[in-house]
Amino acid sequence: MLITTKIKLMLEQEHHDKLLETMKQYNAACNYISGFAFEQSQYNRIKLQKLVYYDVRDKFHLSSQMTILAVRKVADAYIAGKAKKKKEYKKPKSKKNVEKTLISFRETGAMSYDARTLSFTGLELASILTLDGRIKVPMKISPYHQGVMQGKNIRGQADLIWHDGVFYLLLVVELPENEPYIPIDALGVDLGIKNIAADSMGESHSGDAVNAVRHRNAKLRAKLQAKGTKSAKRLLARRRRKEARFSRDVNHCISKHMVEKAKRHRSLLALEDLTGIRERITVRKAQRRNQHAWAFAQLRSYIEYKALIAGVPVVLVDPRNTSRECPQCGHIAKENRKTRDWFCCQACEYAAPADNVAALNIRSRALVSVPNVGVAI
Ligand SMILES: [Zn+2]
Repeated sequence: MLITTKIKLMLEQEHHDKLLETMKQYNAACNYISGFAFEQSQYNRIKLQKLVYYDVRDKFHLSSQMTILAVRKVADAYIAGKAKKKKEYKKPKSKKNVEKTLISFRETGAMSYDARTLSFTGLELASILTLDGRIKVPMKISPYHQGVMQGKNIRGQADLIWHDGVFYLLLVVELPENEPYIPIDALGVDLGIKNIAADSMGESHSGDAVNAVRHRNAKLRAKLQAKGTKSAKRLLARRRRKEARFSRDVNHCISKHMVEKAKRHRSLLALEDLTGIRERITVRKAQRRNQHAWAFAQLRSYIEYKALIAGVPVVLVDPRNTSRECPQCGHIAKENRKTRDWFCCQACEYAAPADNVAALNIRSRALVSVPNVGVAI
């Protein structure tokens, strides 16, 4: 499977300015090409390239390959736009009926690179083409991605983006998938706020550290937003990035742990199926409203893709009442969950941490939905 990793470039000021200048020139060229393409109704990449190539090189001083990539970006944008329009209007009678509008590109819009304009030395250095020749730039790659990419031949196909004054490469890495094994058990995992993840074997990962950082930043944000100065904004952006990085690292760590644990026990991984669910219990609603929501979605996607790579089968189960049902006697009642953290069955007095109870219910639902589990050894 293909995954996209975001890699921070550690640029010194001189290199940063060079790269920013290149990006601006490139997008200016894209706008020029876009204007030409629109005027001539020419969205075929090859034909467009023939028509504008020398003009673009002359006017914007882009290298040959950069010019080709700029033409491709413009042609792709029109074709993607066309496809989207087609979907919206359902059935256009002919191509001419598809309404076209002039596409323009931001001054600091993403810039495409390929193997001719970008190369790597190990996982440490990127060699990036600018208007003024190549620059060698150190990269910052998270320990997790270092592990994943170790020994892989990474090609130069990437998007360069600029965000809050920092350059990143969005690099697509191909990871081999493993054939899923036949599970002999199921590991239920409940995702939440108080505990980021709790499993059916009684283990849970506290969200306290992540929540504390988030809370601290929210308070600081309110204070700095009131100030509204440029340096306050910069500080805020830096804090936001740091928070996102921290939360991402935690999510990588937990998802890796869960997937490895399931594999070790030759279990399938069971999660709640949250697609199409509107009616959710109170905790979940609160979750969706606040900033936890994206971290939550990120953890799910990490678990799913790591499972795919590791060959761990994943099952999504009906999420209704997972936190209200007694795993021992099956009694379902709101009163079973007196507090957010604690479960106590009103019928049989079974008691346990609420998150782990939910995970147990997720596990038993998975075992029901995959009836062969436990038979094969
Ligand atoms: Zn009970």
